[in-house]
Parts: sequence; C-alpha cells; structure tokens
Amino acid sequence: MIRTVSLWIRINGKFSQPLYKDDKQTRLKPQDGEYYLRCAGKWYPVGNDPLLALDAKAAKEKLLRAVERGTVAESEALPHLNPPTEETRLTVESAINTYMTTGKAAQKDWRKHTRQCYTLALKLFTESCQKTYVDEIDGDDLRVFKVFLRKQKTSIGKYIDPRTVYNHFLNTVSFLNTYKLRDLISQNEWPTYEEKKVVAYDPEVLAHLLQFADVDETDVLEFFLGVNFRNGEGAHVEWPDINLRTKEVKVYSKRERYDWQVKDSEQRNIGINDKLAERLAARHLRHPGNGLVFPNSHGNPDTHLLRIIKNVALRAGLNCGQCVGTHQRKRMSCAEAPVCRKWILHTMRKTWASFQDRIHTDFATIQTELGHSSPATTRKYLAAQDHNSPRRRQQINAAAALLDTLKVE
Ligand SMILES: [Zn+2]
Repeated sequence: MIRTVSLWIRINGKFSQPLYKDDKQTRLKPQDGEYYLRCAGKWYPVGNDPLLALDAKAAKEKLLRAVERGTVAESEALPHLNPPTEETRLTVESAINTYMTTGKAAQKDWRKHTRQCYTLALKLFTESCQKTYVDEIDGDDLRVFKVFLRKQKTSIGKYIDPRTVYNHFLNTVSFLNTYKLRDLISQNEWPTYEEKKVVAYDPEVLAHLLQFADVDETDVLEFFLGVNFRNGEGAHVEWPDINLRTKEVKVYSKRERYDWQVKDSEQRNIGINDKLAERLAARHLRHPGNGLVFPNSHGNPDTHLLRIIKNVALRAGLNCGQCVGTHQRKRMSCAEAPVCRKWILHTMRKTWASFQDRIHTDFATIQTELGHSSPATTRKYLAAQDHNSPRRRQQINAAAALLDTLKVE
C-alpha cells in the first residue's frame, strides 16, 4: 500500500493547504495557525513552526519510502506512522473526571451513595497506579491494586474487610471496561471474600427485646419489622406516605427535599399489619404534622435509628458480650456499651423475609415487597432460615435416626 504525506494548516479551526514561497514547496510563507500532517486518513499536529513542520513532513516521507523499499518493517514503522498524539491520548485523570460527571454516573443517574463508592475506589486506584494515560494500564496494575487495597485500613486502624476490597476492585474494573480495557486479568485473580450469611432474629429473642423498649423505641422496631424497610427508607418516611385507611406505606426517592434516592430506583408499596397501623395512628397523635415519622432531635432524617436497636438490646441483656465497638469515642466491649454487632436494623428486614417465608408467602411476593431487582438476592435472604424449618428439622433428625436403628441397645 502506497502512503503519501501532505502538509496542512489549521486556521481558526479550518484546515487548508499552507501557502508556499516557491513552486517547489521548499519554503512556507508565515501564517498564523497550527500545522498538521495528513497520512493514511489521520491528522498529526506538528506545531506552529514552518521549518519544523516541513522537517516533520520530510521525516515521515523518508520513513514511508523505507517501508516501501522494505528496509524498515511495516510493523516497526507503524508506531511512527501512527503516533498517538497528546490530543488523542486520554489521561487517567480526565477519564475519571468524565466518568464521574457526564459519563456513566450521569447516564445511569447514580444515587449519592453509588457516586461516593466509585469516587473512593477510583481515588485509591490512582494512588496505587501512577500511570498518566489510560492506554498504559495493564493487568499488572490491577494485580498491584489488589495488594494495595488489602493493606488499606479503616479509620480505627483495622484492615478493610475483603468484601470492601472486592467492591473497590469491581468498581475500578467497571470503570476500565468503559474505556475498552477488558479482561486485563483472569477471573481467578480477582480478590475474593467469604459471603456473609444472612441472619434473622428468632421470634422469641425479638419478643424479649421488645419488652425492654419504651413506646418510641417500640415504634421504630415494630415499624422496621413490619414493613421491611432499609435504614434510609425508614429515616425518610413521612406521614403523608402512610395511608392508614388502606394500610399501606410507599417508598420513593426524595431528591429535592433530602437529596436521597431509593436503592435500585425501586419504588414500592408495602402493606402494614393492623397492629402496626394502630401503633402508627397513636404515634401520629403524639407527634402530629406532615413531617418525618422518625426524625432526629433537629427534625432531620435520623440516620442513627440504628442506635435505638443497640440501646434496647443492651438494656435487654441480649448483647453477645464478645465484640468491641466505638461508643462516645472510646473502644468498649458490647457487654457494657450499645455496640453489639449482632443488633442491626437491617437484620429486621431479613427477619421480615424469614417470617414471610415461614408462613409460606410465595417467593415472587417476598421479592417484590423487599424491592429486590434480582431473585438471587431474595434467595440468599431466605436460605439462611432453611435449617430451622420444620421440614428440614425433620430431615436432620431422620438422618441421625438412620444410625440409631443400627446401634445395639
Ligand atoms: Zn456483641
């Protein structure tokens, strides 16, 4: 293939043939613009100096002739024939910027939490990988990143957990995929984590817990147990969202007022049981108005509803006594402070699912009401309780009985 090189000048964004002083085109007339070479359908900027522009054209023509004569291999010449210019090369910094502003974040309309997760993951990646251009990134950068992530510590000096390592890694890979950097390392080199078992509370334990809650605390606990809300959903529920006549509560994003969005953009309506409806009616009399159902003392969404369950659990003597947490800026045992990891509002949601499963509510209803976009997530919620089901208990005992029948009395 015969390639030719031509010289162009770009003035005010328009390309044109430059003006020469002589017919043989050896000297250029001074013009105010940027010179470009055009070769094989591509533009290469060569600066605004007429002499250097002519030199660049001559050098490229020389290289082309060498390729034609076969004295330089085409493969060797290609990088020089098609040099990635600064203009077309994408820096990691600007790729991240685009991704987080007009790119995927905007197209998918990520909620605040998702944005924060990606921002952190990509910040860690740029600390681990110091490369300037996206096209320089390779599998080794991800291998180094994996090790780098494992060395990261939390604010209290503990290593971040393997699940977090995995999440940062996953978010970074999904960023790289957008820039066509795919399969840089094989799946078996990815960081791994042990999937945490979804646990639910036993009804007996919950009944005991509720005996130690005052009326406002009981409202919170019964609400989360009754309507399977995520923490954020409970924190942002307002009185007009609750219909005490049809006994329903609706969940939807509240961006203008609270800059808050529902996970997976799943709006949903949940039925309220009769007892909870009465309880909410009584609460509304004590706390009238159209505002938040569970505000904090400043009337804002209470993101510390979690503390309520932890306080009640401590009073009820239901802490495990084994774990340590931060309370009033001090590291304390859960035997004496409301820090037990066993007590989490989110587990009320899982308990809701396990109760529904016990009474044989159909799977699709449970999935819809939990607002899960994938059945796999719902299955994980329900699998946790399987060994407690009467059917499974019977199987466990029947299996043990196989041996008993053979034992000599
Ligand atoms: Zn504990």
